[in-house]
Amino acid sequence: MINRLTFWLLAVFLMPAGHARADVTLIHAGELLAIPGEPPRSNQTIIIEDRRITGVQEGFAEVEGATVIDLRNSFVLPGLMDMHVHLQGQLGPNNDRDALKMSDQLMQMRSLHYAMNTLLAGFTTVRDVGSSPQEMYAMRDAINKGWVDGPRIIAAGGVGITGGHADVSGVSPDLMELFTSPNVCDGPYDCRRAARNVIKYGADLIKITSTGGVMTQRKTGTGQQMEMDELREIVRAAERMGRKVASHAHEEDGIVAALEAGVASIEHGTYTGPRAIKLFKETGAYLVPTLLAGKTVATAAVEADFLAPEVREKAIRVGNDMAGNFEKAHKAGVNVAYGTDSGISAHGTNAEEAVLMVEAGMSEMDVIISATVNAADLIDMSADIGTIEVGKFADIIAVDDSPLEDISRLLDVAFVMKGGKVYKQ
Ligand SMILES: [Zn+2]
Repeated sequence: MINRLTFWLLAVFLMPAGHARADVTLIHAGELLAIPGEPPRSNQTIIIEDRRITGVQEGFAEVEGATVIDLRNSFVLPGLMDMHVHLQGQLGPNNDRDALKMSDQLMQMRSLHYAMNTLLAGFTTVRDVGSSPQEMYAMRDAINKGWVDGPRIIAAGGVGITGGHADVSGVSPDLMELFTSPNVCDGPYDCRRAARNVIKYGADLIKITSTGGVMTQRKTGTGQQMEMDELREIVRAAERMGRKVASHAHEEDGIVAALEAGVASIEHGTYTGPRAIKLFKETGAYLVPTLLAGKTVATAAVEADFLAPEVREKAIRVGNDMAGNFEKAHKAGVNVAYGTDSGISAHGTNAEEAVLMVEAGMSEMDVIISATVNAADLIDMSADIGTIEVGKFADIIAVDDSPLEDISRLLDVAFVMKGGKVYKQ
């Protein structure tokens, strides 16, 4: 009895006090971009307890018993976020064969490997907008529980129309039948059902494809495919259950239709012209540019021989048109959230998008805002991530020198912390 009482006293009164002190971590930051959009400050201390930031102070503070991480010679900023990834795959000559040979379990292990590459590249949060949904929900939940390591995952469930960009293509009719998702729908009521269905099984948001896509192995173009009534019903069903909708779109007719229906973001947005720009600004929707995907497919179309002929033609045209139109859109003041379409490009090379955005005339600071503050806003997580401020998760990265002077420094992230845990140092 005494032993038990002693144990209880120790547990309740002693351990929490000792525990709390041992859990304090200090980051001494030579340069700190705490809030992208505001200027960086020199010689700062970030105080971290448990998983969150509890202080940001001038100078290099000391706390007895705290772990100190010395980044006095580094440039420290919030963890980057990629709003458009596909963790389940990576473009290559053996994609179709791998999909038939690998078990779902092995594929999930590979997705975890890709997720880790992404985290180690400094991307502490990603939005997956198209993988096997149950696999992605399981990875999201397992990472959040701390069972496995990886970036925070915001996982979409897809809703598409028969024969559209989100439907299966490029295999025999028997295999098409086997691989067709229950969330392929036609007409407003059926699409309403599909939207509700993906939410039922765990989607954080709904991904749709209002236009055709480059990678579809069918000659169905890149123009509008979903009808206005289908788009409206999906957005309404999503809103009623507290979910946002992201729409893949290339040609302007499909961008305009999706924005009129009320989507939160347009993915790719290749042919964003004056009509789309006007709607973007009226609605406040985000453009997720994926310039890296454009560059990757345009290069593959010329240099590799594994793209289907239907894909190659679209890849050259769309891939080469992306950056120029993006320049016009951001100069006109369209909200931009960072996204790469990694899975087309290799996972872990996500920062290459930043270089392409600067080449397309965006300032280094605006690129970093798109990958932090704006991305957090798009996924409704501004209270938890996006800046280095008291109360937020300690999602913090560091590079050797200022990316505000040379954005390519983001290609070489030297330090990664997510939720107070160090993954790379
Ligand atoms: Zn994509």
